[in-house]
Amino acid sequence: QSTEPWRDFDRLKVYTADLESALHYLLRVELATHSTLEGEELKVFKDFVTLVAKLYPGGGSVVKLMETLCDWLLSLPLQRIPYQAVLDLVDNKMRISGVFLGAELRWVGCQGSRAGLRGYPCSLWTLFHVLTVQHDATPTALENTGLEGEAAPVLQVMRRYIRTFFGCEECGRHFEEAAAGSLERVQSREQQILWLWEQHNNVNYRLAGSLSDDPLFPKAPWPSPSLCSSCHEEKNGVHVWNQDNVLLFLRQHYGASNLSPKYSL
Ligand code: FAD
Repeated sequence: QSTEPWRDFDRLKVYTADLESALHYLLRVELATHSTLEGEELKVFKDFVTLVAKLYPGGGSVVKLMETLCDWLLSLPLQRIPYQAVLDLVDNKMRISGVFLGAELRWVGCQGSRAGLRGYPCSLWTLFHVLTVQHDATPTALENTGLEGEAAPVLQVMRRYIRTFFGCEECGRHFEEAAAGSLERVQSREQQILWLWEQHNNVNYRLAGSLSDDPLFPKAPWPSPSLCSSCHEEKNGVHVWNQDNVLLFLRQHYGASNLSPKYSL
């Protein structure tokens, strides 16, 4: 049983508390398993921070923190950064200037019916869905970052982050296989949104009924007909997705105006 109080939420909303908790966990827990960042790891981390600084919607405290972290990382002539220096920046230096990330995890749309279920992996999916939609809404946001030349920059950074840092190695292997097989075919911002949706559903199909499945949130193709009836069609008695309507739904659901600040700092 979770010791956290249950937080009522609306499945039609996306909660900034989940996105902030994702970054909190990523910076303070996941990264902490790497005592120094160097070479490819450092490059992947810099790209991830740049992506979030440029595409995280709303321009609030999170963006300021990621921008400061980004400027700091890019200004360092070092090939090797101790993790402790990153933590110091996130925990102390930024707090002095009033920019800080919540010091606790607060899951809302990602809360589980007991500890150990949902939480971080749920919030990481959510974060990347938001970033694909925001990249589509603000196509020039990545200019002059070095990422603008990639056909699917959000997915490429996600792929490298998952491969390098994501704690679940099995997940990383599966995601890498999927990316190696089909990511090069993604050539537009719309396809980038839909590719991630499709991969996420492939994982949902694979995990339905498994041990990691929260009984309160059973894995199923998403969005369900109750969330988006026009996303579903039947052709010759077979279920098919209406991809145009799925795209419209994803843009709306993960768009900046559907983010709820409830339970956020
Ligand atoms: P999640 O699947 O985490 O989904 C979070 C929320 O996203 C849902 O509540 C829903 O609102 C929304 N959502 C659901 N489906 C979609 C979709 N298709 N498109 C857009 N939004 C959607 N676990 C494993 O055991 N094996 C794996 O191989 C594995 N691979 C993973 C790969 C990645 C890249 C990530 C980030 C996680 C992976 N996981 C894997 C974890 C797993 O996918 C779930 O995140 C975890 O089990 C928690 O599930 P959840 O019920 O919170 O829903």
